[in-house]
Amino acid sequence: MLEHQIKNIELSLFANGTERKGEEEAWKVQPSDSAKNCRNFIREIVDNLDLEPNPEKPVIALSIGDPTVYGNLPQADETIKAVVKILEEGSCNGYAPSVGYEDSRRAVAEYLSHDGVEVDKKDVVLCSGCSSSLELCITALACANKKQNILIPRPGFPIYRTLAESIGVAVKYYNLLPEKDWEVDLYHLESQIDQYTAAIVLNNPSNPCGSVFSRKHLSDILELAYRRRIPVIADEIYEQLVFPGKKFASTASLHSQVPILICGGLAKRFLVPGWRLGWIVVHDEINAFQNIRKALVSLSQRTIGSNTLIQGALPAILRNTPQSFHDDLINTLRKHAEIAFEGLKQAKGMSPYMPEGTMYMVVEVQMNRFPKFTNGLDFVQKLMEEESVFLLPGDCFQIPGFMRIVLTVPENLLKEACSRICEFCNRNYV
Ligand SMILES: *Cc1c(COP(=O)(O)O)cnc(C)c1O
Repeated sequence: MLEHQIKNIELSLFANGTERKGEEEAWKVQPSDSAKNCRNFIREIVDNLDLEPNPEKPVIALSIGDPTVYGNLPQADETIKAVVKILEEGSCNGYAPSVGYEDSRRAVAEYLSHDGVEVDKKDVVLCSGCSSSLELCITALACANKKQNILIPRPGFPIYRTLAESIGVAVKYYNLLPEKDWEVDLYHLESQIDQYTAAIVLNNPSNPCGSVFSRKHLSDILELAYRRRIPVIADEIYEQLVFPGKKFASTASLHSQVPILICGGLAKRFLVPGWRLGWIVVHDEINAFQNIRKALVSLSQRTIGSNTLIQGALPAILRNTPQSFHDDLINTLRKHAEIAFEGLKQAKGMSPYMPEGTMYMVVEVQMNRFPKFTNGLDFVQKLMEEESVFLLPGDCFQIPGFMRIVLTVPENLLKEACSRICEFCNRNYV
């Protein structure tokens, strides 16, 4: 009976003057422009590499920017317990406001209020990871049909380009200067600004460079943004992940007259990238962003907000995770940076750059001393083939001729990887 009814409905759908398509006609379902323009630049490069490890040697991947892969960097107990408690309470299983629970936003505001910075909960929007924070910010500020562009760092994290181009917003690169500790080339940055520039993206501390901007340099950048009236998106996902002797300064602590959207999250400093909890802080001392605040609220409604379980745990995570946990992580990363730096200095044709923070180190390779390899991509392929060590080529970050090394792997593997890289370089260098 039911079947019969369905059949009738189906038939009546086509009875209305429309012709039923022949069985032989193929479906033509095309992806949207947004989908077609959404590219993963790391995957595009890595998937085209011929990565056959040496069967005699276990693979060591110094390529993945995920501190959890080897299990050597455990989360703080307080971080774990916070989530268990919320799960057991059962208090955060429903929908939250799309910008996040008020208590959770207050906790982020409190966490980021230091060094003369006062953040209010009304300035905070919670997102699904810092990537999603960046997506909202770029979407809120830049518009495809006005032909707008955003300025992004080179070298830099490729997701800014992925996010912008997917919504039809162009990117233009500004250079970082290796000889000046990867500071922004301010002349080049200014030369890239045009009438269509909607935002400057800053990433401090930097992935992949591991650099940390001084207050002076940050204020020079903000001065330029002010003069040209360009808002800033500050990717501060590595906030506080800086080595002893350096101090992290948030763009907010400069008290400039520039409206800034600060993006951050739990992923790196709390070692839980999979938990997908990020935030945006609207820093706007001059009320230039009234409409942008509304835009961010509207955009947050597209996905009805971020994971409520982690939101619910957020106040306890941010308040209870002890300073000693953060100090231990920094000390480990700094030790690993020193091991890699000392180890790779011994490799012929390689110049490591000692990072000042983050989980990465960049190394310059004198490609002309390795004539056997056609380019940096070929170099990493052969390194894998001969030594089973995998590094991301600088091409992934717009700096061919460099490599990025991830410092979160266990110490013994890092040492082993460095000595294999040395052997490889010393054997192939001419
Ligand atoms: C890891 C990373 C992010 C993304 O963080 P999620 O919270 O995992 O989305 C953003 N920016 C930079 C520079 C990163 O390295």
